[in-house]
Amino acid sequence: MRHVLFCLLITPQTLYAGLERYSHLVAADISPAAPAHGEVRVTYLGTNGFQFESGRHALLVDPYFSRINFSRVVLGLPVQPDLHRIDEAMTHLARKVDAIVVTHGHIDHLLDAPLLMRKTEARLIGSRTAIELAERAGAPGSRCDPVTAGDVRHIGPWKIRVLTATHDRLFWVVPFAGEARGAGPPRRAADWVCGEPLAYLIEVAGERIFIDSGGTPAVLPPADLTPVDLAILGVALPDSRARFSAAVRRLRPGYVFPSHQDNFFRPLSAGFEFGPLTDFPGLLRNYERDALPGHLILLDYFRPWTLRRE
Ligand SMILES: [Zn+2]
Repeated sequence: MRHVLFCLLITPQTLYAGLERYSHLVAADISPAAPAHGEVRVTYLGTNGFQFESGRHALLVDPYFSRINFSRVVLGLPVQPDLHRIDEAMTHLARKVDAIVVTHGHIDHLLDAPLLMRKTEARLIGSRTAIELAERAGAPGSRCDPVTAGDVRHIGPWKIRVLTATHDRLFWVVPFAGEARGAGPPRRAADWVCGEPLAYLIEVAGERIFIDSGGTPAVLPPADLTPVDLAILGVALPDSRARFSAAVRRLRPGYVFPSHQDNFFRPLSAGFEFGPLTDFPGLLRNYERDALPGHLILLDYFRPWTLRRE
């Protein structure tokens, strides 16, 4: 298995509101230097959002900064991107982004993508349903690229392989399941339907990064991806935690980041807090009990960490 180095910085606990208990797991660069050739810099954006940087290129996955509050979602009130929160988050992002890659159509993955496409000149990669929703919400069609499992896209230095995935159930059903219906811009959270969930293998600078947003034990990552340098596995709900050990064993990652673990109904400015349905202590116990491969890490909002080859 390829060896990678990482810098693990333990800073005063006050910097890790919500992560204090796990500060020994938090990975972050000591110096803010740009990634050198052969390195990939990973910045966690909250929810299941990431910025990957290689050289002068940047790629976003599931960027979501509006973080609509819980009552607005469950009461079915209109939702729209929060321009102030997006502008604030963009101070941490590259000015120009090659592509935004989304795992499915829910608001916490797709709502902000159309606006971010305009601001960063990025193209959008997602399922047919996700692309349809984004276009209805104003995404420029010429830069929208619908994909299905098995597709491969080469964009700048990035090789993006599209993989089959599933979505966690919440109380026995996938929330806001199905494909886009009707016409016109999606208005409520329920209009941003899941569509076809996808996972991705992103290859750049010799590194292999697997990312999904969760899933069920019925569908594990493909067996032919191993080993990967970094596995980003959504763990927001019980289904994805139930398949976590099997997914890690299959991917044999150098590092594993349990993602979608924060309370995404709170603004990023409120600091990190684990999601109310995220049993992170239980996940960690299982990780140690099962002696899973790789290093389990946590990342803090907007604190870059460089994955580099030895
Ligand atoms: Zn979802």
